[in-house]
Amino acid sequence: MSFQVPESVKPIRAKVQQFIEERIYPVEHILEERGEEESGVTMRRLMNEAKDAGLWALGHPVEIGGQGMPFLDYVYVTEVIGRSEFAQVCLGTHSLQDSIMLNLHSSPEWRDKYLKPLVAGEIFPSFAMTEPDVASSDPTQLQTRAVLDGDDWVINGRKWFTTGANRAAYTTVMCRTEEDDVPAHAAFSMIVVPTSTPGYNIIREVPVMGMMGGHCEVAYDNVRVPKANLLGPRGQGFLISQQRLGPGRIFHCMRWLGQAQRAFDLMCERANSRVAFGSTLGEKQQIQAMIFETAAEIQSSRLLTLQAAHKMDEGDPARIDIGIIKVVGAKMLHNTIDRAIQVHGALGVTSDTPLERMYRHARFARIYDGPDEVHRSTVARLILREYSRGRGWDFGTR
Ligand SMILES: Cc1cc2nc3c(=O)[nH]c(=O)nc-3n(C[C@H](O)[C@H](O)[C@H](O)COP(=O)(O)OP(=O)(O)OC[C@H]3O[C@@H](n4cnc5c(N)ncnc54)[C@H](O)[C@@H]3O)c2cc1C
Repeated sequence: MSFQVPESVKPIRAKVQQFIEERIYPVEHILEERGEEESGVTMRRLMNEAKDAGLWALGHPVEIGGQGMPFLDYVYVTEVIGRSEFAQVCLGTHSLQDSIMLNLHSSPEWRDKYLKPLVAGEIFPSFAMTEPDVASSDPTQLQTRAVLDGDDWVINGRKWFTTGANRAAYTTVMCRTEEDDVPAHAAFSMIVVPTSTPGYNIIREVPVMGMMGGHCEVAYDNVRVPKANLLGPRGQGFLISQQRLGPGRIFHCMRWLGQAQRAFDLMCERANSRVAFGSTLGEKQQIQAMIFETAAEIQSSRLLTLQAAHKMDEGDPARIDIGIIKVVGAKMLHNTIDRAIQVHGALGVTSDTPLERMYRHARFARIYDGPDEVHRSTVARLILREYSRGRGWDFGTR
């Protein structure tokens, strides 16, 4: 099993990297001003340029309008896509998980209506699980409820952190559709709700760490949608959500490695060029220690993530591996950017470098897609279960 970038992937990966460095880096400060007209226009221009350059929707299956790059190849490309937080949208990869979910589970009508424009980047998706009033790390507690009334679902509840709801064409809503006595893991379903539906009310865009990231609080007040908007069978919400999250976490972790690489480059260049007390920063042992720790963390996280990706490619759900990389990757990302800021001194906390923006995004990584603590306890429980069944957990064979 090799973890080097395959020769066949190198040209396209280099092309993606060049696009990001030459076209996206110079306008990141404009793209960051979400909601501003210039930001929207710039994003549209970049999306068109990516299409013209043949870099659009590389990992989406061909049958839904993508370029059908195999999973493992795409994993390596995702690593460079991670260098800029904006690259996912510029290159049309942001809709990958949602379009696959729609393709697999939606009614033919929804597939016809949404799938093509979604993959083409003409419309945006959003996903609503988290609620302000319950600890949503434990989604069995979700309160939003959908009741069948004739041929319609009627949805009531409140969600927040529905990222991108303010520009999305629709939200996939995770809600309880079954009676209270049905076991939680068979009681929730996913329902597609167009954001223009009466009763779908965006209460506010929640500011996070000084940014407006499109994280919306949404009230569902008697939202009525056709029965056919159900994704998959009733009560299968958790199953569908798991299918969405597994590969999604590999992609997150690879993108974090791309962010870390960018921060590491900046840190090392600064260490080699900045002089204090008669020598460069890089000649000082404490700075060398930071570079050592960072290199070790990046390399460990990279190998863990690629190993999990290889397992998944072979059909193994790799639950333990995925749980580990989510925690290790988020910590690595945070530590890397933190140290890069430190080496830059005051410059590191200004917006003259991308580091302070990257740092704020890195903080979120320890929370979204399951907080660290939940993954730690899941991994530990799964390993202990192997011991209780007499199988143990031999790292040499797993
Ligand atoms: C930037 C960002 C984007 C997001 N985008 C979306 C989105 O698009 N759609 C969506 O639905 N959600 C989204 N979320 C929400 C995210 O998925 C939730 O925040 C996450 O699932 C945790 O739920 P919670 O916030 O309710 O925290 P809670 O469940 O209240 O947990 C709070 C803390 O309790 C601790 N904790 C929880 N469980 C355990 C445990 N078993 N053992 C020990 N400690 C524990 C952890 O420290 C945790 O951070 C986003 C979040 C962020 C930050």
